[in-house]
Amino acid sequence: MPSSQIGSQEEEIERIYFDNSATTQVDSRVLEVMQPYFSREYGNASSLHSFGRYAYDAMEAARSQVADSINAAPRDLIFTSSGTESDNLALQGAALAYSGRGKHIITSAIEHHAVLRTCQFLEGQGFRVTYLPVDEEGFVSEETLKESITSETILVSIMLANNEIGTIQPIRELSEITKDGGALFMTDAVQAMTKVPVDVEKLNVDLLTMSAHKFHGPKGIGALFVRKGVKLRPLIHGGGHERGLRSSTENIPGMVGMGLAAELGVAEMEESVSRMRRIRDRLIEGTLAAVPRAHLNGPRDAGRLCNNAHFRFDFIEGEGMVLLLDMKGIAASTGSACSTKSLEPSHVLKALGLRHEQCHGSLRLSLSKFSTMEEAEIFLETIPYVIDKLRQMSPLKEGVTYDVPTIH
Ligand SMILES: *Cc1c(COP(=O)(O)O)cnc(C)c1O
Repeated sequence: MPSSQIGSQEEEIERIYFDNSATTQVDSRVLEVMQPYFSREYGNASSLHSFGRYAYDAMEAARSQVADSINAAPRDLIFTSSGTESDNLALQGAALAYSGRGKHIITSAIEHHAVLRTCQFLEGQGFRVTYLPVDEEGFVSEETLKESITSETILVSIMLANNEIGTIQPIRELSEITKDGGALFMTDAVQAMTKVPVDVEKLNVDLLTMSAHKFHGPKGIGALFVRKGVKLRPLIHGGGHERGLRSSTENIPGMVGMGLAAELGVAEMEESVSRMRRIRDRLIEGTLAAVPRAHLNGPRDAGRLCNNAHFRFDFIEGEGMVLLLDMKGIAASTGSACSTKSLEPSHVLKALGLRHEQCHGSLRLSLSKFSTMEEAEIFLETIPYVIDKLRQMSPLKEGVTYDVPTIH
């Protein structure tokens, strides 16, 4: 390893990273297996010579690894550039391919923006979209889904696990209702991969999306499961790669990295999940005990991702909390990483029925298999100080009602 890399890794030892739902560290074994495909084995998988054949074989081996990790056939797995692209290809691709049958799509109010904004785009293209509400823990109701399906419904898209509050949806039940209604079922499994068993047969889904950088693989590579017989219109046209669904010269290092990351993630899942769950529970119990007026968002235990703790602190601004924690060496996030640059409250928290002001004091801690109990203890020593300091400065004091406009 070059010395510059060793240096930067040493500097990171003191810092605590609790933002693994935004992105994760590449596993060193994944990085190692990718390296030759940047240097010695740089061929184009479409070429007929040996360079091309090596690249092709590496790509197909990686496809099998990712497919195996979700119990899919390799030929039903398409590589893309990201979770966002996979969501776009699945939604737009199915909408356009099946628009002759109907123009109604159903999704939930708490989807990732990669799904929500694509649905909004499709509304502009003449599709009708129903956004299902969720209960106060973030669960979609099976009854409501059943009532929303019409003969015009072509696609239902409900995420497997939520990226902000960690709610795990009853996908099998929701897909069954959808199939009974004659529509296709899609799920965004980006956050669920390697934390929840993901089996496309047991879940009975037609389309499923993933992203490698959320499970210790590299950025810039994602995948989409497309059940045999399901038709999609491609978004990217060109040389006909990926069965014509996603043209462009293949990202072999990314695919190889994603393949191993998926294989390792699933092989080591049982152990890493129980570790993360213990640390998560300590974070939840410790924070609620140490900080007055602290609340947990999302489900308490059953139905919650093993790596997610999401709090709401009264009289606090989330941005200040994240910045103060960062000064103490702890990386966390307020709401969702995508919305941190705007002051709009998270659409997920609003969908839980929280008021505007309540959404602002929220903090997401998301763990990985590399997180430790020692890091959790450091957080628990730090958070009361951070909250205290911010509350002293807060214009939102106890006794002041939330109806008073707040200053941002
Ligand atoms: C991160 C994320 C995405 C987007 O994946 P990218 O690879 O970053 O584009 C989509 N859905 C969910 C639930 C996510 O958490």
